[in-house]
Amino acid sequence: MVERRILAVGSVALDTVRTPFGRVKDALGGSATYFSMSARFFSPVAVVAVVGRDFPPRHLRLLESAGVDTSGIETDQGGRTFRWSGYYDFDLNTAHTLKTELNVFQSFRPKLSEMHKRARHLFLANIDPDLQMRVRSQMRNAAFTACDTMNFWIENKKKSVLALLKKVEIFLCNEAEARELSGEFNLMKAARWMLAKGPQLVVIKKGEHGVVCVSRNFVFLAPAYLLEKVFDPTGAGDTFAGGFIGHLSKSPRLNLRSVRQAVVYGSVLASYNVESFSLERVAALKPRQIRRRYRQFREMTEF
Ligand code: AMP
Repeated sequence: MVERRILAVGSVALDTVRTPFGRVKDALGGSATYFSMSARFFSPVAVVAVVGRDFPPRHLRLLESAGVDTSGIETDQGGRTFRWSGYYDFDLNTAHTLKTELNVFQSFRPKLSEMHKRARHLFLANIDPDLQMRVRSQMRNAAFTACDTMNFWIENKKKSVLALLKKVEIFLCNEAEARELSGEFNLMKAARWMLAKGPQLVVIKKGEHGVVCVSRNFVFLAPAYLLEKVFDPTGAGDTFAGGFIGHLSKSPRLNLRSVRQAVVYGSVLASYNVESFSLERVAALKPRQIRRRYRQFREMTEF
C-alpha cells in the first residue's frame, strides 16, 4: 500500500469574524485546522501546532473525532492561543484583518516526532515562514511539499517567504498575494515570476472566481462551485488546499490529470466550508456529499 500520510504545520486559532450574515467570537479556526479537517477525507493527516492554556478541549476533541492526529499539537500553559479577528463586506473575496495576535506562536519551536518526520506529504499552511522552514528541514522523505502564505507574512517576512519558495514543489496563494509578492499585476506574469523562484506548480486562488494553476508545461483554470448561499469565506483557502493536497496524496505523480481532479476536489470542499461559520459544515460532511458535488461540478463545467 502506498504511504499517504500528510503532515501539516500551521495555525490552530480562535477566530472572531463578522460577515454581512452574522458574527462569531473565538470560534475554532486556523489554517492547519481548516486544512486537516478537509484533507482527512483523502488520507491520514497529522497537525503540528501550538495552542494556549485557554484553548477549549472540545476543539481538540472535534479534530480527534474526525480522525486527525493531534499528537503534534502542543499546549503551552504559559500563554494564550493564536487569535485572528477580521470582517468581510459584501465582497466576500476580501478578508479585512482587524487584529492578528500571534501569542503562543511567537515562541513556538516545532520538534517533529520520528513518525511525523516520515510523513509522505508535507503541507506548510499559513504561519510564520521561519516556522514553516523549520518543519520543512526536519522532514526525511517527503514526496512533495506544498505551502501557503498570506499578506501578513509577505509584508513582515518577505525574505523568509522567498527562501521557502525554493524548498517547495507546490505554492498556493490568493490573487492579491500573488501580485504583492511578485510585484506583477498580471496574474500570468505573477505565476511565471513565482515559478522562477522554485516551485513546479503555482496555484492562485481567486475566491468565487475559481482557481488558476500554472506549471512550466501547462495551465489549468477552474471556476468555483456556484452556491446560492455563502455565510463565511474564512478558511476557504485552507479547505481548498486540504481537498487539493488530499487528492494529490493519493495520486502516484503530479501530472495534469491528477492536478485537474485535485483542483475540483479542493473547490468542492471549499464550497461546503463557506456555507457555515467556522468548521460546522465540513465537520458534519459525509464522503457521499463530496462525491455528489464533484459530479455536479463536472456537469456544470463540461462542454
Ligand atoms: P483562509 O483560508 O485564508 O481564509 O484562512 C483563514 C484562517 O487563517 C483563519 O482561521 C485564521 O485563524 C488564519 N490566519 C489569519 N491570519 C493568519 C496569520 N497571519 N498566520 C497564520 N494564520 C492566520
